Amino acid sequence: MSFLLLIAGLPTAAAAAYLLATSPTGASLDAIGGRELVVQLTYLASSVLFILGLRSLTKPDEARRGMQLAALGMVFAIVGTLLNSEILTYSWIVGGLVLGTVLGYPLGKFVPMTAMPQRIAFSHMFGALAATLVGVGEYYHGIQVPEATGIERFKMAAIGFEVLFGALTVTGSFMAFGKLQEFITGKPITYPGQNIFNLSLFAAAFGCFVWLIFNPENTAVFYAMLAIGFAIGILMVMPIGGADMPVVVSLLNSYAGLAASATGFAINNDVLIIAGALDGASGFILSIIMSKAMNRSFGNVIFGAFGSATTASGKTSEGLVAKSISAEDAAVQLAYAGRVVFVPGYGMAVAQAQHQVRELAELIEKNGGEVKYAIHPVAGRMPGHMNVLLAEANVPYDKMYDMEEINDQFAETDVAVVIGANDVVNPAAKNDESSPIYGMPILNVYEARSIIVLKRGMNPGFAGIENELFFDEKTNMLFGDAKSSLTKLVSEVKTL
Ligand code: NDP
Repeated sequence: MSFLLLIAGLPTAAAAAYLLATSPTGASLDAIGGRELVVQLTYLASSVLFILGLRSLTKPDEARRGMQLAALGMVFAIVGTLLNSEILTYSWIVGGLVLGTVLGYPLGKFVPMTAMPQRIAFSHMFGALAATLVGVGEYYHGIQVPEATGIERFKMAAIGFEVLFGALTVTGSFMAFGKLQEFITGKPITYPGQNIFNLSLFAAAFGCFVWLIFNPENTAVFYAMLAIGFAIGILMVMPIGGADMPVVVSLLNSYAGLAASATGFAINNDVLIIAGALDGASGFILSIIMSKAMNRSFGNVIFGAFGSATTASGKTSEGLVAKSISAEDAAVQLAYAGRVVFVPGYGMAVAQAQHQVRELAELIEKNGGEVKYAIHPVAGRMPGHMNVLLAEANVPYDKMYDMEEINDQFAETDVAVVIGANDVVNPAAKNDESSPIYGMPILNVYEARSIIVLKRGMNPGFAGIENELFFDEKTNMLFGDAKSSLTKLVSEVKTL
């Protein structure tokens, strides 16, 4: 997802490229030819680096390098843009670079990992806004300035696409940001006939788009399409629950990528076409992977109004009692266990307990035990959330196992330690057809010989439902913030 975030910055570079490309120039043709070659080579290097970066991101141990390659690619793209021979003055561009850096640095440095989905939505909003403004500017230059010569059909299609998808991504991303940050209600807002109304708006926007290809000079239709695009973004995200926002953010990311690609066609910028296509495709694939891992169809996420507390059903724990355990007793179990599997979830991210997890694992290993980490694809709040946190704590990559790799091993596991995970270990997904998560693949923690669950209380997870695993005979609950529980476990194991 971080890669998507990085290349989502491209439309901003496009805005700079646009400023340059539309400026009159006095440079000699020869000078332009040589410089143009350098620019194209820079763009080529940039595109190759993006592709290599994306490839490296498929493996956790190469992901950091992948990000570095992609960041270098971005530097090349910006340098290539700044070398454009049609630049008249750098003052606006430098101003933009300074402003972007002043805003971007704290966003990258200080926003916590748990707030990353909304931070990404926020960045997409700006990326899409840049693409939209470039489209509007290009249209204005082609049609409305006195010396305008018109816009041919292909270019009008590219501008129309860019403006429509850009506009809906701006407001859609803002809505997603608001829902995740909780200043807009996370509950789905629905009304009768909503899907039909939204589809009609899409049809109207598409009608404007087609009309403009044949009648580009019709400015009223152009600005109507822009307005409808903004409205679609709001209305499309309104009925989607806050819980599904990460999937929406990834889908909007894909739209922003497509808008950037269209910008590339509109202003003849190859690196934008390539990076936008990469962004569009990877965002779309990621949305599908996330939906699949939650066992939800894409249509269900977009039109299903899932995520309100009222939609959650499932069995309740009436009459059942969850056993609690002290840190001392849990430490004894862990200190002498042969095979231990740690199962991190969203609570580990909230507690920022990854370093203590690694410390405890090392102590168990020192005592002769074997420790593995089981990673569910949607544990936490964004894809790769757990891998990133554990890697930050220097957990070796070869000890992190995907769900498919580890699920058969739980039956041979002495102690499964669930650290702030809930839905991803809920057996209701397998055996309760009335559960909203029924059918979602889970980690088979319930098969372990004994289970220790670290969480603060009996609160449900993201899906808002109870978890029968917590009432299982083999399960002991170690209540408290995951970080402080793990700190206690570490000091207890040290004394044994
Ligand atoms: P859950 O959201 O199911 O559960 C997290 C649990 O952590 C809670 O029950 C909470 O219980 C506990 N917790 C919170 N804070 C702390 C703390 N400081 N210390 C200890 N425990 C804490 O998390 P999972 O990771 O199991 O599941 C992720 C869910 O998110 C899935 O339903 C998935 O579909 C969804 N999702 C994931 C996406 C992704 O890309 N990863 C995207 C969209 C949705 P308590 O308050 O009692 O402590």
